[in-house]
Amino acid sequence: MHLAGAECNVAIGLARLGHRAAWAGRVSDDELGEFVLRQLRAEGVDTDGATRDPDRPAGLMFLERRTADVTRVRYHRAGSAGSALSTDQLRGPLAAGARLLHLTGITPALSDSARAAVTWAAQAASRSGIHVSLDVNHRARLWSRDAARAALAPLAAHASLVIASADELDLVAEAGSDEDTAVAGLLRRGVETVLVKLGADGARAYTREGVRHAPAVAVTAVDTVGAGDAFTAGYLSGYLDGLDLADRLRRAVTVGAFAVACHGDWEGLPRRDELPMIDGRPAGSTL
Ligand code: ATP
Repeated sequence: MHLAGAECNVAIGLARLGHRAAWAGRVSDDELGEFVLRQLRAEGVDTDGATRDPDRPAGLMFLERRTADVTRVRYHRAGSAGSALSTDQLRGPLAAGARLLHLTGITPALSDSARAAVTWAAQAASRSGIHVSLDVNHRARLWSRDAARAALAPLAAHASLVIASADELDLVAEAGSDEDTAVAGLLRRGVETVLVKLGADGARAYTREGVRHAPAVAVTAVDTVGAGDAFTAGYLSGYLDGLDLADRLRRAVTVGAFAVACHGDWEGLPRRDELPMIDGRPAGSTL
């Protein structure tokens, strides 16, 4: 049994790199909810802003390795505690203060109240000068592209950082926009940086100054799940450390490479002193 979730993965990635991170969400008031909170706390993530729901169950995902090449996924998350997230439970955690609020496009897909809560948090944070980052993270099983665009395009206008895969960019822009048009629109609406994740090809970063490409770090890929969240944690860590764009990207692709070179969504994420471990190290190295 594993804890998984895009926002959790990013929070754990940041905590492992030595930053203070807190997670605000809703869990079932039973052993499974307790498991979630314990895992987060064990990784040094503050869970004081989490709420326990006495009436709703934990959201579950079953992954079945059916053959070496085919994995079947089954969700039991409709009506889960997490999907009942509401604005009221985010007021306290946000008022506690933060330099950065990280949101994903998964939570707003869970329910109307979760969508309202995420939208409220983005607005409230940007109004009070908290840097907002949004990972588009489209989940086609949860909503259509049109429904995602209707919710996420307005949300992106509150973000200073938008992270997407190339095929997700038009979910925060006009339908059918190509990459250049979508990025130009985001920068015009006040987004400072747009990161486009390119898997084994690394990533592109757009700012008003232009575009920069960061190649991936060459590793043996054993499990690509969680690479995007790891990349985001690495980038945000660089931002919090005050690194320049090139060094933020370097940390992002390094942490992303850790995720693909290890099993699990977040279990292989590095501590700060481990960052040099894979940076340019040839395969088969011993430490
Ligand atoms: P996921 O949804 O599985 O978390 P994603 O689609 O959001 O992934 P990717 O673009 O696959 O994100 O990966 C994010 C980053 O991780 C890439 O920008 C790259 O830096 C790194 N990465 C991904 N795949 C590889 C790989 N095979 N080798 C090295 N680095 C990789």
